[in-house]
Amino acid sequence: MEYEPVIGLEVHAQLLTCSKIFCGCSTTFGEEPNTQTCPVCTGQPGSLPVLNRKAVEFAIKIGLATHCRITSYSVFARKNYFYPDLPKGYQISMYEYPLAEDGFIEITIQGMKKRIGIIRIHMEEDAGKLKHGETPETARFSYVDFNRTGVPLVEIVSGPDLRSPQEAGEYLRRLRAILQYLEVCTGDMEKGTFRCDANVSVRPKGETQFGTRTELKNMNSFRHVEKALEYEIKRQIRVLEEGEAIIQETRLWDASQNITLSMRGKEEAHDYRYFPDPDLVPLKVGEDWIEEIRQSLPELPDRKKERFIQEYRLPEYDAEILTSTKAMANYFESCVRLFPDPKTVSNWMMGDLLRELKKDEREVDQCPVTPQHLAGMLSMMKDGTISGKLAKDVFEEMYRTGDLPEKIVQEKGWIQILDTGEIEGAIKKVIQANPKLVEDYQRGKEKVFGFLVGEVMKQTKGKANPKLVNELLRKKLKG
Ligand code: ADP
Ligand code: MG
Ligand code: ZN
Repeated sequence: MEYEPVIGLEVHAQLLTCSKIFCGCSTTFGEEPNTQTCPVCTGQPGSLPVLNRKAVEFAIKIGLATHCRITSYSVFARKNYFYPDLPKGYQISMYEYPLAEDGFIEITIQGMKKRIGIIRIHMEEDAGKLKHGETPETARFSYVDFNRTGVPLVEIVSGPDLRSPQEAGEYLRRLRAILQYLEVCTGDMEKGTFRCDANVSVRPKGETQFGTRTELKNMNSFRHVEKALEYEIKRQIRVLEEGEAIIQETRLWDASQNITLSMRGKEEAHDYRYFPDPDLVPLKVGEDWIEEIRQSLPELPDRKKERFIQEYRLPEYDAEILTSTKAMANYFESCVRLFPDPKTVSNWMMGDLLRELKKDEREVDQCPVTPQHLAGMLSMMKDGTISGKLAKDVFEEMYRTGDLPEKIVQEKGWIQILDTGEIEGAIKKVIQANPKLVEDYQRGKEKVFGFLVGEVMKQTKGKANPKLVNELLRKKLKG
């Protein structure tokens, strides 16, 4: 029997506000533990939360960018549970009345566009962090850091519309790009500012009802999400094939073993006893404010991609990759401003640049080759200072050292030879060294010409202008 996976994702994204969601404490990452706390975010009796307007604005931005309806009335609710990093004994979240509903994100899968529904977006506060002792003396202890307690989050819940781990990966990349374009979240999965829980079930192909789902947690990269889903889909199919039933449960991804492990079953599921937080009034967002925010939205990936196709005459494929992150798009446009040949810039970015970055797992904004470097190199190639072949070496050298192309070419003596006298000298040597081949060529064996060109290039250490070499060699052999 053939099975089809059904996947829905819940993403928690940390909002880039300066202060926390219900108090004035700083949200700066990496400070000394418990230095960014106050009575409100440590849950002292009698303290009262006050909503951060900027956090609401950011959440509305996300709602608008994902085509959601911003609700005119939303309610903060208490989600009750005990955990040492949750000092109040409840987390303030939204439940029945979220901030935004019923939107979608468009993804591209194998050249086909597909809409993935967004069921709802709600705001909530983050919990603190537990740290377990690592030295022999501290191993008996766990420590709690409340700096993160009360940092604003949005939870973005997708519809059960994804049909493969690859689609889930695409959705996450697209969603992250939107958040980054909006400048409301860093989108760093490793640092936990963008976290994903994945719900997955399988069903026989053609079946219209959904199967029982499990929820996967603990993946801290896109790759892990895809791998965890692949594993879990296979596991569920195996269980069904054996005639057993899937148990609705939460499972943890174990990256060291590449498997998912049961964490808690339905019978252990929390009953959060949600109720409206009496310390916070319902949130009413006016049409005028929504409109104001809508006007302030930046150019988002879909629109930018269309513009790249129109304005720079790029193929759709190029435009898709170049707008996949804001940093890529900015890099491209900076470079084109300096070297106005969009397709050439695109080719170098999608080829050499991305290949090197991928090898080092670096993002484009950490690239030692800046748009100035790349544009400089392309200009030298265009005016003939360096050959296309040497450009590749210059690129590698720029990437390795961060030096400007002019400096590299100077120091390495890589300037292209355009001097016909010098090239003719090299040709003369090659002809003298290969009398037999020259004879073959003159008898009509065209094939050896390429070899002789190669020899001349070798003589000049790859620095001769290939077009000139071709012309001059042809002339010489004919004469
Ligand atoms: P909960 O609050 O228990 O997590 P939700 O209704 O918020 O439940 O749904 C959580 C996620 O699970 C959503 O992203 C939804 O698309 C997804 N989902 C729901 N049913 C299924 C299913 N049968 N298979 C896969 N995903 C599902
Ligand atoms: Mg859930
Ligand atoms: Zn505080």
